[in-house]
Amino acid sequence: MEQLFPTVRSYAWGSRSALAQLRGDDRPSAHPEAELWLGAHPGDPAVLADGRSLLAAIDDDPVGQLGPAVVERFGGQLPFLLKILAAEEPLSLQAHPSKTQAEEGFDREQRAGIAVDAQDRNYRDRNHKPEIVVALTDFEALAGFRCPVQTVAVLEALGVPELEPHAALLRGQPDEEGLRALFTTWITMPQSAVDQLLPAVLDGCVRYLTANGADDPLATVLRSTLEIGEAYPGDVGVLSALLLNRIDLRPGEGLYLPAGNLHAYLRGTAVELMASSDNVLRGGLTPKHVDVPELLRVLDFHGMDVDPMTDRDGSGAPVPGEYVYPLHAADFRLSRIRATAEPLTLPGRGAGAPDGPEVLLCVGGRAVLECDGRTQVLGPTEAAWVPAADGAVRVRAEDGQALLFRAVVPTDR
Ligand SMILES: [Zn+2]
Repeated sequence: MEQLFPTVRSYAWGSRSALAQLRGDDRPSAHPEAELWLGAHPGDPAVLADGRSLLAAIDDDPVGQLGPAVVERFGGQLPFLLKILAAEEPLSLQAHPSKTQAEEGFDREQRAGIAVDAQDRNYRDRNHKPEIVVALTDFEALAGFRCPVQTVAVLEALGVPELEPHAALLRGQPDEEGLRALFTTWITMPQSAVDQLLPAVLDGCVRYLTANGADDPLATVLRSTLEIGEAYPGDVGVLSALLLNRIDLRPGEGLYLPAGNLHAYLRGTAVELMASSDNVLRGGLTPKHVDVPELLRVLDFHGMDVDPMTDRDGSGAPVPGEYVYPLHAADFRLSRIRATAEPLTLPGRGAGAPDGPEVLLCVGGRAVLECDGRTQVLGPTEAAWVPAADGAVRVRAEDGQALLFRAVVPTDR
């Protein structure tokens, strides 16, 4: 076990104060701290205490670092990437590919001779990128298409004549194909048509909010639409806010985003765990590369309700000790640990004996980790790498409580 130092990505949408505050520092950082990466993705591997990148350490000794089972299943690569994300402004509207789509897309772009780090490259690796996001602060997101019947009601409620043909399209076919038709119509609309429709829709949102007040059930989604409209004027992606589920996560609540799920994170600080990949297909709300046909190929147009996973029990109290977020991803498993003064031995990283590596990330208080006679103290935003060859980890709070997240490779496929 040793300390693992994250790499920082300083995207423009990032917050200058959120991670500093988490560390207990009132001074904002000089540049936005958008994402901390704790993984071995070649794009930005984290760094070990001795100065080696985690990627290099794994390449030098795959079996010692990852264990034989993970080496066999994932070809000698760490299958997950853990991040902290601090969004002050909306992130792009995006979806991630399935494994098959990523392999096919990567090979296609290789054949076309597009450099892996080119600005207009969609597929930077051959991996899928399912992800789970767990809120550290109140966290706002748009994710997954809303059930179409409800979306028809939203579009009708706005009372915008320019929107009526679009509402009629979905009313006539309130299913997956209707959503595909409406979304495709919007996202491929000529800019001149967007410039007519979008202001009318935003005016409709203002009128509705003025007439119905902040407690109306549609208030949050319409406010988000207006906010995105202000941040990205004239961007057709703004209309998508009307089609997606508007989600508020409270601290500890998690959302799983499988392949093809259209989403946009709006605001807040969160822990994110995903398959080790940087494959993003964007549909707007960004100055970055947007590839609409490719996005349409991977999108899942099933309308659905979204139920966040919660780390609280029936009475609303946080589950003590380790809480594992219930999801079925082959590449990663995420749990939240509430440590107290009483040491907690973390159960094996597989069934019984540890058989894979883990990353432990502190997000609150100070955590004391013990493993094979070594001790590592972590403050907020600090992390530790535990290679597969190491024994079980005992964790306690230095005083009071400490809050950690734990990423492991699941063995129960
Ligand atoms: Zn995403």
